[in-house]
Amino acid sequence: MSRFWNSRVRDLHPYVPGEQPNVADLLKLNTNESPYGPSPKALAAIRDVAADSLRLYPDPTAATLRDTIAARFGTTADHVFVGNGSDEVLAHAFRALFHDDAPVLFSDVTYAFYPVYCGLFEQPFHHIPLNDDFSIDIDAYTGACGGIIIANPNANTGIPLPLEQIETVLKRHPDRTVIIDEAYVDFGAQSAIELTHRYDNLLVVQTLSKSYALAGLRVGFAIGSPELIEGLIRVKDSFNSYPLSRPAQAGAIAAIQDTDWLADITARVIASRDRLVPDLQNLGFQVLPSCANFVLVHHPEHKAGAIAAALRERAILVRHLSTPRIQDWLRISIGTDEACIRLTDALRDILSPRS
Ligand SMILES: *Cc1c(COP(=O)(O)O)cnc(C)c1O
Repeated sequence: MSRFWNSRVRDLHPYVPGEQPNVADLLKLNTNESPYGPSPKALAAIRDVAADSLRLYPDPTAATLRDTIAARFGTTADHVFVGNGSDEVLAHAFRALFHDDAPVLFSDVTYAFYPVYCGLFEQPFHHIPLNDDFSIDIDAYTGACGGIIIANPNANTGIPLPLEQIETVLKRHPDRTVIIDEAYVDFGAQSAIELTHRYDNLLVVQTLSKSYALAGLRVGFAIGSPELIEGLIRVKDSFNSYPLSRPAQAGAIAAIQDTDWLADITARVIASRDRLVPDLQNLGFQVLPSCANFVLVHHPEHKAGAIAAALRERAILVRHLSTPRIQDWLRISIGTDEACIRLTDALRDILSPRS
């Protein structure tokens, strides 16, 4: 607390990202990064642009990148917004598209940044409890609201929501923006992008951080009706005209065009997940059915915090989240098969120590 902080800053509760410590041989399974590298074509494009033109400002409208995204998803650039990571896209969407005459609705277990944005923008919100099996109770998303945001698959559970249920929400709230945060969609869920052609209140947000293995580049995008996109551009141009650097734009263009690379590295993560889940179940864990690059797990006989601490001693980081309802759960990112084996070996050792 400082006397220089204004009342807005004093009342903030900032998001706490997963640790990024600098430790040798550390196995990071705590922030859902890809264990594989990004497309070599993206790396080449980044190198070329860095060698060539960093003294110049980037294109403030990111026109070529937006055309590339539009072409990839069968739409036009006026339906596409890009930002410095999907976190920034989401922040602008909360700012531009959610109304403060009623609470914004989102799950009690979901991406912890949503309430943080509400705090920053002084936007009331309401947590909708997940069902007992951690699925989303779509019938609870009724009544007056300032807007709705749903992560699909849901953050921290990995459970996907069928498109028919998203459509139900879109029809029920035609005058409010419904954001579908698809940070993990490429790992096995169905994208709602096709619905943007029929619903002008739908904004679908994706990121290059997880499936494209480009968390360090900071690129996210949104697809929706031109009205929604224009609202986002108005906020962006009132905040930062150049959120995407030249390397970010060039790398993202090449990465999005390299669909074979994306398909290959996501298939590898899915295959490792399919092998890891039964191994964790054999160790006594309850594992939620995940369509993401992580699993949320619970052990009936061991405290989640104690397991996380013991893994840490073995240089393996997993995420023990502060959300009350999942206090006894751990979120574990899917690594390579070798990483999964190192994890299960460590867990076997922790859960049944040899004397
Ligand atoms: C990781 C994540 C994001 C943010 O991704 P960036 O593009 O890296 O900012 C957004 N939403 C969810 C649900 C995420 O898990």
